[in-house]
Amino acid sequence: ASKQAGRNCVTFFNTEMGAAALARDQTEVALKRAVQTKEFILHYQPRLDIRSGKIVGAEGLVRWNRPEHGLVMPDAFISICEETGLIDELGKMVLEIGCAQAIAWRHAGLDLDLSLNVSPRQFSDSGFLPLLKKLASQTDFPHGHIELEITETVLIGDHVSIAEKLKAITAMGYRIAIDDFGTGYSNLSYISRFPLTCLKIDRSFVDQLPTSGPIVQLILTLGQQIGARVVSEGVETQEQLDWLIEHNCEEAQGYLITRPLDVDGFEAFLQGNAPTGVA
Ligand code: C2E
Ligand code: MG
Ligand code: MG
Ligand code: MG
Repeated sequence: ASKQAGRNCVTFFNTEMGAAALARDQTEVALKRAVQTKEFILHYQPRLDIRSGKIVGAEGLVRWNRPEHGLVMPDAFISICEETGLIDELGKMVLEIGCAQAIAWRHAGLDLDLSLNVSPRQFSDSGFLPLLKKLASQTDFPHGHIELEITETVLIGDHVSIAEKLKAITAMGYRIAIDDFGTGYSNLSYISRFPLTCLKIDRSFVDQLPTSGPIVQLILTLGQQIGARVVSEGVETQEQLDWLIEHNCEEAQGYLITRPLDVDGFEAFLQGNAPTGVA
């Protein structure tokens, strides 16, 4: 009987794994189509300037509006896009949507910075710099107000060529943020050689405040030293925000302020929290 059960077990697992592989394949096929038919949208999560209490910007976060599935979150498809190379097309779309939105906000008289996520593979693609150049040459492109979020992984490797690439990008009018800061393995001695304008403290540290206080303070000091603003990600409680106020962190982002919102929701949110410099 136990042999029988063992056999059943094997069959069960094979079927399960087969089902997972099939779902993965179907997702991949659907993603290929989705990239062509542009099934992606951005949601926007406000960035709070802690000192002034004003919303000074937003992070654009991609969502897949998958037919018959509803809104799919990035954790379910970004890695597949990275593995298959679809990320170049998806990343291009995200930058196009984001830049168009930033220009529209300017036209509406809203003074907002917009951060957009760039994946490591997208960053190393030869088409990335030409794309940025093309976007920055658009009429009314908000120079200095689009920030590209890269992860520490991007900074590993030949630091001279990475620094040159980052300098070329900032010369076009983009700013550079390090996302999920503190979780990667970037060489701290090179950090000051890169033209960084922002460090985003990973949610895992913010979540552990005040226990993680020494680490967060270290990042705040580092930011000051290199002239980069520090944003705390994933702020969920008033206690966390109070700690950040007390320790002079520049910006906060998180569910305490609001979850990411679709563009209409974001603009409605701003109505109740007027951003600075409204014309
Ligand atoms: P991320 O760039 O670190 O973005 C922050 C993530 O934390 C978002 O998840 C956001 O919804 C979530 N978050 C914000 N505040 C809180 C909070 O208070 N508590 C908790 N528990 N979570 C919070 P989301 O939108 O699911 O995005 C996940 C990741 O997917 C992003 O992490 C980013 O790495 C990636 N991603 C999103 N959009 C893009 C994109 O356009 N391109 C690329 N390459 N990656 C993207
Ligand atoms: Mg990000
Ligand atoms: Mg992050
Ligand atoms: Mg993250």
